[in-house]
Amino acid sequence: AVLQEVQIHDGIEDTLRLFAFKLKQGIEVKRQYGPDLPTMMAYGSELNQVWTNLIDNAIDALNEGPPDDAPPTITIRTCEKRDRLLVEIEDNGPGIPPEVKNRILEPFFTTKPMGKGSGLGLDLVRRTVENRHGGSLMVSSEPGRTCFTVSLPMSS
Ligand code: ADP
Ligand code: MG
Repeated sequence: AVLQEVQIHDGIEDTLRLFAFKLKQGIEVKRQYGPDLPTMMAYGSELNQVWTNLIDNAIDALNEGPPDDAPPTITIRTCEKRDRLLVEIEDNGPGIPPEVKNRILEPFFTTKPMGKGSGLGLDLVRRTVENRHGGSLMVSSEPGRTCFTVSLPMSS
């Protein structure tokens, strides 16, 4: 793992390319990228694992189906806010049930069938964001809207 100059959109686009096949099955990806975001020093391949895990979860949620008849959509937003870079990955899937919301970051916690989910994805996301990049992870969810926000300090 090397600390390198990272252009966040490149990492997200590289990750999306790996999901091209899974995404082709009727999921729309909307990009709302902030203009002229600066590069930052980060562990590029580890951050790509973060986008991978969050997009993977969004796809799984959308395969359960949006609660209404809206087209399944993943929205990815980026922006610069003070000295932080924010990346939001949102889906319009069924949402995280309130009774499990406070457990989803725990290692090995999964609601997916045996063999489908390891329950390690969000644990890795949180550790990479917090411990490796000094950032923070926020989750907000309701039926029809689940959003994970990764906040990264640009000078770490
Ligand atoms: P896994 O994907 O292997 O189950 P994760 O750590 O990635 O493990 O996620 C843990 C749990 O959090 C999932 O099993 C699911 O219940 C919930 N979850 C994560 N992302 C979403 C999402 N976008 N929508 C609904 N539930 C989610
Ligand atoms: Mg997962």
